[in-house]
Amino acid sequence: MSTSAASEVSRRQFLISSGVVAAAACLVPLRLFAQEGLVEVALKASATAKITVQMLRRNISVLLGPGGNIAVLTGPDGKLLVDAEVITARPNVAAALAGINADPIKQLINTHWHFDHTGGNEWVHQAGASVLAHENTRKHLSADTRVEGWGYTFPAAPAGAIPTTIFQDEHTVHANGSTLTLKYYGPAHTDCDISVHFTEADVLHTGDTLWNRNYPFVDYSTGGSIDGQIRAAEENLAKVGATTIVIPGHGAVTTGKADLTLFRDVLVEARERVAKLKKQGRTLEEVVAAKPTARYDAEWGQSFQSPKSFLGWVYQGV
Ligand SMILES: [Zn+2]
Ligand SMILES: [Zn+2]
Repeated sequence: MSTSAASEVSRRQFLISSGVVAAAACLVPLRLFAQEGLVEVALKASATAKITVQMLRRNISVLLGPGGNIAVLTGPDGKLLVDAEVITARPNVAAALAGINADPIKQLINTHWHFDHTGGNEWVHQAGASVLAHENTRKHLSADTRVEGWGYTFPAAPAGAIPTTIFQDEHTVHANGSTLTLKYYGPAHTDCDISVHFTEADVLHTGDTLWNRNYPFVDYSTGGSIDGQIRAAEENLAKVGATTIVIPGHGAVTTGKADLTLFRDVLVEARERVAKLKKQGRTLEEVVAAKPTARYDAEWGQSFQSPKSFLGWVYQGV
């Protein structure tokens, strides 16, 4: 579908754009840690960002692009997707899916309501797919929803983008010879995060409860918190075995517990250090200057969330 070189180009474009956002945010001290402009930048960058297709196990593959990772299950029932990218990525998502095979998309599952996972809901639904999600995903997509962390208010999604089926705690889907177990995390990254486990293939899509080797965004505006994100990280560790293939919301696909353990440890360590500094009366600016996550910043803070942004999310919750 595309080369890793092309993927690097899109990654750099995103980094350059993120730098612009960070610089702009610095001019507004009161909103230093809100990622003003991030949504606009992501919408623009996603229109040209390349998408890479990676085959995983059995009839499951993944689309790695500018927004949330998309799992694709193929077979006689038509394609089943987990997540639907940023809306502007549509041409490249459609091309990547057509590159797998010509079968229609029949089912879409949303891991949570964020625009980089539900942006394609409307066109995928119009192409003939049902849309399944947690009940709070439908709630947030159905009304104007403000995300303070991005300084952005999302207007209510069009009728065609609203999930057609919702559930609360657990749900099972049978498609293409696979059993999919869907489970609600409870409040974590948002208040509507679910995991999707392809049981026979032992492939787990975690949505944004895992950002592999990337600092996570934490959406306090719709029920997320650093403590919820840590609880979900523990839950993911309990779910996976040594050979489980794990699709994170963002970052590379991984196998087994190692990267999940590291993610949990990075969050717990950041939480402990930031809480200690905050208890000493340090301001957020002083916490950032103290560089409590310095040993991870070069790797973890370079693509989606800067160290400064991440520390802001942690500070808010401790
Ligand atoms: Zn995401
Ligand atoms: Zn998200």
